[in-house]
Amino acid sequence: FNEIPTGYPVPGQTIVYDESETIDLDNVPLNGGILVKILALSIDPYLRRKMIDPKIPSFFPPFRVGQVLDNSGVGVVLRSESPAFKVGSHVKGHFPFQEYVVLSDPSKARTRVLENKESLPWTVYLGVCGMPGQTAHHGWYEFSHFKKGDIVFVTAASGPVGATVVQIAKAEGLKVIASAGSDEKVEFVKSIGADVAFNYKTTKTREVLEKEGLINIYWDNVGGESLEAALEFAAQKAHFIICGNISGYNTQDPYHVKNLQQLVWREITFHGFLIGSLMPKYQEEFDRTFPARVASGEIKYKEHIVRGLENAGQGLVDVLTGKNFGKTVLVVADE
Ligand code: NDP
Repeated sequence: FNEIPTGYPVPGQTIVYDESETIDLDNVPLNGGILVKILALSIDPYLRRKMIDPKIPSFFPPFRVGQVLDNSGVGVVLRSESPAFKVGSHVKGHFPFQEYVVLSDPSKARTRVLENKESLPWTVYLGVCGMPGQTAHHGWYEFSHFKKGDIVFVTAASGPVGATVVQIAKAEGLKVIASAGSDEKVEFVKSIGADVAFNYKTTKTREVLEKEGLINIYWDNVGGESLEAALEFAAQKAHFIICGNISGYNTQDPYHVKNLQQLVWREITFHGFLIGSLMPKYQEEFDRTFPARVASGEIKYKEHIVRGLENAGQGLVDVLTGKNFGKTVLVVADE
């Protein structure tokens, strides 16, 4: 991480690729830990939130200039001095954006062995079976308060969080309205079950909502005009799940939302949340059931693969500008 961006990150400026450090794979001391070859790293919108001035109070510790970026990753154990990690086993953890990492205390990087009984591609554990899928699942069951006949509106609906929400809501038998930023994304969202899907860049959100009936549940991934339209067409006592507001992640201006008076008149509840808080309650059930639902094809997903650490910056820009289509994964190495 080279520089705090003022707007969108700039590859080669905000994030730079550095080949200066090398590692002797055969002899690097493990101090009782493991040597992991990193196969894939997750690129998520929240990484932008970690690129803010460290003086601004934030739940996530911001990246410090000069620090190696880090995020969820999957890898394979090359050497091990820890009985809990066998050589050749696949692991998931919080890893630096590097080709290899030595973890002298793997538990510190939340590292765990992936059993992958369903033989899914490893990258799935960064997307639909990882943090974004968990966000959709845990957030939905904690906050949606869904009931028969509800109308749900989901934004950024082709992404790993949005697409999973669409499918969970459809599996519960609800009517789903979904928006996405291109016609191709809209087709995908329809293919996974959305009853109504539209390109919010060419069709006004408020016109669609006006036609489709008042919404009982709004899954907000984007904030901005979508949130304002959802407030305007919310049913009485609607639940708004405020998962993200990506339309404001790269702006310096304070964020103003119109129509907030509807919180009173429509008795709307806003549920803001961070996924970490919901993990203890839902994680066991998710790990037990979700990979099987994905493997059976019941829950579908898309991936946006970016190859090579040198392209990490571009991968993040893709996510923040909507050039990605599906879960953005940085593939660092093949097996
Ligand atoms: P995605 O892979 O869907 O990527 C983000 C998408 O946001 C883009 O593809 C784009 O889709 C859309 N987007 C980008 N810029 C804008 C804009 N200016 N206005 C409207 N939409 C825009 O991301 P995820 O599925 O990983 O995450 C979705 C949301 O969930 C994010 O806001 C993220 O921060 C949040 N999140 C929150 C968590 C929590 O704990 N609360 C945990 C995980 C994610 P399109 O082309 O359709 O516009």
